[in-house]
Amino acid sequence: MGKALIIGCGGVASVAIHKCCQNSDVFEEIMIASRTKSKCDALKAKLDGGKTIIHTAQVDADNTVELIKLIESFKPDVVLNLALPYQDLTIMDACLATKTNYVDTANYEPLDTAKFEYKWQWDYKERFEKAGITALLGSGFDPGVTGVFSAYAMKHEFDEINYIDILDCNGGDHGYPFATNFNPEINIREVSAKGSYWENGHWVETEPMEIKREYNFDEVGIKDMYLLHHEELESLALNIKGIKRIRFFMTFGQSYLTHLKCLENVGMTSIKPIEFEGKQIVPLQFLKAILPDPSTLGPRTVGKTNIGCIFRGKKGGKDKTYYIYNVCDHQECYREVGSQAISYTTGVPAMIGAMLVMNGTWKGAGVFNIEEFDPDPFMDALNKFGLPWQEDFNPTLVD
Ligand code: NDP
Repeated sequence: MGKALIIGCGGVASVAIHKCCQNSDVFEEIMIASRTKSKCDALKAKLDGGKTIIHTAQVDADNTVELIKLIESFKPDVVLNLALPYQDLTIMDACLATKTNYVDTANYEPLDTAKFEYKWQWDYKERFEKAGITALLGSGFDPGVTGVFSAYAMKHEFDEINYIDILDCNGGDHGYPFATNFNPEINIREVSAKGSYWENGHWVETEPMEIKREYNFDEVGIKDMYLLHHEELESLALNIKGIKRIRFFMTFGQSYLTHLKCLENVGMTSIKPIEFEGKQIVPLQFLKAILPDPSTLGPRTVGKTNIGCIFRGKKGGKDKTYYIYNVCDHQECYREVGSQAISYTTGVPAMIGAMLVMNGTWKGAGVFNIEEFDPDPFMDALNKFGLPWQEDFNPTLVD
């Protein structure tokens, strides 16, 4: 059916590319382009032989001119951005210049400020409308599936949703005292920032990890979870009618938090450059270099993730609660695609978002968050491509 250009060849991209190859009726031809071409070539060597034709290329995704050249030579139907959030705008610029659809999994973050917001990407709305192309923002799990779950709940289960709690539980154990499950730099920037939630039309800010709750997750068990700021809160606050409060909680073990506190206290998580032996280095980037590469965690991670949303609202004039979630097993993911569940739960929805934009199921000129589209085809695809969801009509609520 079409061609996709995939930018980046890390943990998430590797899963998305495996999934594109499993879905070769849609992804007839793909190009994997990243900073380190050898990684793209290694993945191609692993996957060649199936129906999807795979090309590789080297690209610096910070450089719009290079990107435009690559897009013009390959002429993809969609660009799937699986590099880092810093590259979102240069890639969107290249898509505009070449009138090519755009999909990503994480919102833009400037390199020198640990703050992600949609405003930069939402600013492209008019230009994408004029160009007649689609940008689909945040097609991972969270953001991504959490927005699809919200749209699905709104469409099928509620007249009005008043409260959403997004619960992201990783019950996996990789056996290291400290490692992050996706890009360490992005992960540590996210969890060491202040927390916040949306309530009655405004943001309430908290200290990092200030709000803690305990929850008993299906197939995982009881875990501590902490309130974080998270990207989808911003778009769901606008797109879900009747919303009064949205919060996001993520589980962390005590060992992870103790290590993180220590690293913070000694300055290792700072993004301010320092001078070291005559060279400018960013402590957090140095830390990334010495931590285990998340793409190597697959073989050693056991346990499950459980990520979903608890909704409270009204249906037919009555109060209603509804919980929808996915449970994913790290080892099953590893057996299937050679990655752990965090990359898997992001890479599968990335492929699905690209598929729906590419085959025209989701269309529209402009910049869209995922909950703005019809959730049903995405929900079906989740069941088909390895992330089946479960429902609970009487869940335990988070106080
Ligand atoms: P990785 O660090 O494993 O991979 C990033 C890839 O992008 C690497 O291949 C890297 O190249 C490449 N890259 C980085 N900078 C450039 C550049 N300037 N030009 C070209 N290529 C570049 O990250 P992950 O796979 O873990 O994460 C990918 C994305 O997914 C991130 O944006 C992350 O925030 C997002 N994410 C979203 C989630 C969600 O649920 N929505 C959950 C988890 C992650 P090289 O190999 O040379 O380093």
